[in-house]
Amino acid sequence: MDQPERRKTRVVKVGKLMIGGTAPISIQSMTNTEPHDYDATLAQIRDLAEAGAELVRVAIPDKKTLPVFKKLVQNCQLPLVGDIHFDPELAALALDNGAAKIRINPGNIGGTKRLEALALKAKDRNAAIRIGVNAGSLERRLLQKYRGATAEAMVDSAAGYLEIFENAGFDNLVVSLKASDVYTTIKANRLFAKDYDYPLHLGVTEAGPPSTGLLKGAIGIGALLADGIGDTVRVSLTASPLEEIKAAKKILQALGIRIFTPDLISCPTCGRCEIDLVPLVNQVEKLLENYKEPLKVAVMGCAVNGPGEAKDADVGISAGKKKGILFKQGKVVKTVEQDKLLEALQNELNSYR
Ligand code: SF4
Repeated sequence: MDQPERRKTRVVKVGKLMIGGTAPISIQSMTNTEPHDYDATLAQIRDLAEAGAELVRVAIPDKKTLPVFKKLVQNCQLPLVGDIHFDPELAALALDNGAAKIRINPGNIGGTKRLEALALKAKDRNAAIRIGVNAGSLERRLLQKYRGATAEAMVDSAAGYLEIFENAGFDNLVVSLKASDVYTTIKANRLFAKDYDYPLHLGVTEAGPPSTGLLKGAIGIGALLADGIGDTVRVSLTASPLEEIKAAKKILQALGIRIFTPDLISCPTCGRCEIDLVPLVNQVEKLLENYKEPLKVAVMGCAVNGPGEAKDADVGISAGKKKGILFKQGKVVKTVEQDKLLEALQNELNSYR
């Protein structure tokens, strides 16, 4: 697979995780449990880690959340990001309570002096800050200057805050430029990437439920990754955060950037198909969750074109009437009864371990 050269960025340290440089593009999500509920939030963070999250953000809406957050930091393997709005004191306290990074929208956290103080606090705590610019909450001054929430206005907003932090001697910064509009998100990140070397957190904000949100996220995030832009990913979905992790992994895998499971190739079926292929493909997809090897696995609907169409596959099955053909590297290995196809495939997969 031809892959683009990744944009060169500086490296930002978030606890034990590195973002940018040559570090793998990391996957993150945000908890949606009640932030004062320690047990529920801890359980969700653990589920997210198990699913593949490398960084988790937790909302810190008030001071009462801080002891809960502190305890989460102490009991989680993953670095945690505190999400704070409107309150610079709370942002500083999140850092005092162990946040490896805080995410702020500098437009609502106060003026230059407050941001400078926060920069010093983050430096003191060896933590990172994400400057989260959202098209929906740009400064009025910029909305007037650019006649709306344009990509240029978003980059200008980030530039202003970067300058404040840099002048305060702090540069452990990640930037995100998110809009709910896919084009604006892509354009803003491309513009930013031309002029700055800070790592970019990619996402299309408020992308909606999975039926549309997955597509918006895949197009927006995918287009940027295909340009070599992007250092950490959050797929925003109105769904369980576990779905966001699965989606982020699939986007990275579809582009060959990171491999988590074997790649599944399956035909769209047509009039030649002599088996109910959809349930078989679903079973194979489930089976592949247990494998991490970078294999290509094909499930094709007929013996006529199956092996030929999937000639790049390491292993596969071409289903026929009551029987199917097992093939390896595009060559037929043997014929197998239909109800034994899954098992035969599994045996071949195991031979790669
Ligand atoms: S592999 Fe066979 S069943 Fe599947 S689309 Fe091709 S011709 Fe049709």
